[in-house]
Amino acid sequence: MKVYKVAYLGSDSEAALAFEFALSKAGMRFVSATGDQSGVKKALEFNADIVLWDLDNNPQGKPIPLEQIRKAGLVKQPVAVVVSPDNVDGAIQSLAAGAVDFIYKQVRDDPLPRIVAALNVGQKQRRIDWCNRVIEDTNKQLHGILSTLKDPAYGVSPEYQILYMNRAAEEIFGEGLRGGACFHMFYDRTEPCEICDKSKGPARWRAVLKNGKSYRFISALIRNEKGEVEKIAVGTDVTPDEEVRKIHKTFISNVSHDLRTPLAAIDQYVNIMMDGLAGELTDEQRQCLDVIKRSSFRLGNIVENLIDASNILSGHFKLKTQVATVQEILDIVLDRLQSQAVDKGITLQVQVPDDLPLVYADKARMAQVIANIAGNSIKFTEQGMIQIRAGFMPRDGGRVIISVEDTGIGIPKEDLGKIFELFYRVENDNVYVEEGAGLGLAISREIARAHGGTLWTESLEGMGSAFHIALPIHEGQQATR
Ligand code: ADP
Repeated sequence: MKVYKVAYLGSDSEAALAFEFALSKAGMRFVSATGDQSGVKKALEFNADIVLWDLDNNPQGKPIPLEQIRKAGLVKQPVAVVVSPDNVDGAIQSLAAGAVDFIYKQVRDDPLPRIVAALNVGQKQRRIDWCNRVIEDTNKQLHGILSTLKDPAYGVSPEYQILYMNRAAEEIFGEGLRGGACFHMFYDRTEPCEICDKSKGPARWRAVLKNGKSYRFISALIRNEKGEVEKIAVGTDVTPDEEVRKIHKTFISNVSHDLRTPLAAIDQYVNIMMDGLAGELTDEQRQCLDVIKRSSFRLGNIVENLIDASNILSGHFKLKTQVATVQEILDIVLDRLQSQAVDKGITLQVQVPDDLPLVYADKARMAQVIANIAGNSIKFTEQGMIQIRAGFMPRDGGRVIISVEDTGIGIPKEDLGKIFELFYRVENDNVYVEEGAGLGLAISREIARAHGGTLWTESLEGMGSAFHIALPIHEGQQATR
């Protein structure tokens, strides 16, 4: 069993005697010393578990001078004060100044229980100090490990403030972001995203960062040495290997060009037969040919999209950029999609502020992007409406944000990060949509990027989806329309 050591620092020999008597009965060791530098030295040499500091050491019943005692050498030992019953104020103030407890002298009662209580408090304090030191050391080690990672890592406070970034994160996001809001790291967000908002605990998500690479992030909660909860996030680069991408692209390009010729032949011969040039047709034969024609048309669309995708993804396309208003681009989109929406009984609503800045864009390509996104919204919405809205955001030299929001089936969380990949389509047992090969969003994101912009999405399964495109504004211009 541990033998506790108690040091009394003061010059009240009667009190010292009373303590020694009580403690020796309980099998504890005791030393008495003066309330000055030499007394502190003696307590240190004695290796005291607790120090009893007589408040009479300080003039006029002042509270414990804990800072001075610590400076004198008793750095970590818990200190309890010994006070006369007429100095209750001094006792209370000493507790406020950091004493673990107080013990009255000149009382007839046995002082042992108070000393034992003070020892317990002191021990508890020591345990807390020890735990805090472990937390501090562990966090230091964690930061050390994170700083050596080639992948980006950062720490965020519960108020979404970036507290820490390793070198990889600084290189991608810029050092200036430290101290700023974490949601500014991703896309062009202006407020906390779903990941921080909803999940109090660990989270996983995917994001394409400013360096153009795809990352899979995982985050965990840790407690820092101040007792505050921090979120630490680490991203792993999951960008497909360049060699694999090249093979992929060459394959798409070759196959799609090879498909064009036989498809053209099918189309040509179906037309010949439908025109009756190969002989009279029965109604049944005509119906069959009709199905062949529609299917080859759909296949033709897929092939054209594939060729487009292969050109865009290999960088073999040039933008025909010009100064444009967002309304001009949306007019092209509406012209293309209005009848499709009407056929499905869905309202297509457009809101563009009059004073929106101009953009510098390839109007046809931008219209292709928005038509593809809004076309998806029509495909995946059974009732409700689709809203296309535009707005201005001053960040990063000024951006125009075009958002397409629907009230459709939404996208499951686990698919959100993948829908921009080539050929990716969400598998949904309850929904069957014929058209589409999972190319539109991959193409759209590349076109948005070629404009110096970004394309991202947020969605809740069963509630709807929102796609946002951020485009840089045309320099120094404000829209006049
Ligand atoms: P597709 O031509 O197959 O629509 P995209 O690349 O345009 O290809 O879209 C990929 C997939 O993303 C779609 O197949 C669909 O599963 C999902 N998706 C895209 N937009 C929406 C939306 N507005 N609502 C629900 N799911 C969507």
